[in-house]
Amino acid sequence: MRGFLIIGNEAFTEPFNLSDLPGAGRIDILCRCVSQALFLSHSIRKGVEVYLMLLGEPDPPKAIRIRSDELRRMSPDERNIAGHIRKAVGYKLTKDWTETNSGIHASKKTLKELLTELSTSWEIYYLREDGKDLHEQVSKIKNPLFIIGDHIGVKRAEEDIILEFTKDILSVSRLSLMAEQCVAIVNYELDRAGII
Ligand code: SAM
Repeated sequence: MRGFLIIGNEAFTEPFNLSDLPGAGRIDILCRCVSQALFLSHSIRKGVEVYLMLLGEPDPPKAIRIRSDELRRMSPDERNIAGHIRKAVGYKLTKDWTETNSGIHASKKTLKELLTELSTSWEIYYLREDGKDLHEQVSKIKNPLFIIGDHIGVKRAEEDIILEFTKDILSVSRLSLMAEQCVAIVNYELDRAGII
């Protein structure tokens, strides 16, 4: 298994206009991360979970979970993925996971509540430019979940929570990359290392 958690600092928490994903708090970034995390050429990866933490107005926080093994009716394009996110944020959500599509669940969990839950089954790694080189660390990694910021990065308040749960801080390059590029590189490194 491998997992990704993307922090959407301004990602809208009510249904948004599918024709303006950047204007919906950069939902486009989250969609590209989902696409890079889940999709192969003409198929979907097995054993991948993607979590999206939506922290934008008007009803934050909202957490979305996408499980590749249960997923139906998603395609790799941003608009299709955004349609699933839009549907999920439109539900009346509670602290428990609500299924909004096969393989997609949503809740009103805070970041701390989400990480408390995830830390029982994942080794949590925080991706940051100044971390240890993933390429050198990858052989030590088991059942990892990687936390990645959006265009804003990760704000201090969220970073303080993340660091409580983090096994290590890892870097994929000395350059500051786009979030979806980090997802693609992590998949590449884990694939090369034979980590399923
Ligand atoms: N201006 C933002 C900042 O200073 O945090 C840039 C954030 S970057 C566009 C988005 C996210 O990708 C970061 O929060 C980090 O999680 C991840 N990231 C970007 N470059 C990385 C790198 N070289 N190694 C590890 N993670 C990286």
